[in-house]
This record gives sequence, structure tokens and C-alpha cells, in this order.
Amino acid sequence: MEFDYKSRRWKKKRIKILRRDGFLCQECKRYGKRVEAVTVHHIKHASEYPELAYKDDNLVSLCSACHNRMHPEKAAAGKKY
Ligand SMILES: [Zn+2]
Ligand SMILES: [Zn+2]
Repeated sequence: MEFDYKSRRWKKKRIKILRRDGFLCQECKRYGKRVEAVTVHHIKHASEYPELAYKDDNLVSLCSACHNRMHPEKAAAGKKY
């Protein structure tokens, strides 16, 4: 089953994770850059690990550039999330 990114539960979770991460991209932060995060990414993909979809430690805030890098398969398919 596809993960529902439009669900209310996810929207609330997403804000919680962004707030935890200070609204900064955690990947850029590793390189000392402060870039606003726009996406919350599943480290283990929600489609393969639905049981981890709402686990805080499986979620990380990223900017769109870093997020696209995490998803070569989606970029190739022309999808974005
Ligand atoms: Zn980034
Ligand atoms: Zn992602």
C-alpha cells in the first residue's frame, strides 16, 4: 500500500519532526550549512516499511535538493515526494 502523505496524521507528524529538527535540513547541517527544511523524509521508505512510517527516528527533515538526492528512483519516475 502507498503511504498517504495527505493524511491528517502525517501532516501533524511532519510538523512535529520539522520542529524537532529546528526547521533545518539535517543533511546540510552535517556540512555546517543552514538550509530550511521543506520535506520530512522516511529513512526507511514507507512503502517498504509501513510499520516505521510514524517512528520519529525513521524521519528526518530535509531541503528539496537533499531529498531529491535520497530518491533517485522517484526523480527518474518524475514523481516528487
Ligand atoms: Zn539539504
Ligand atoms: Zn523521502
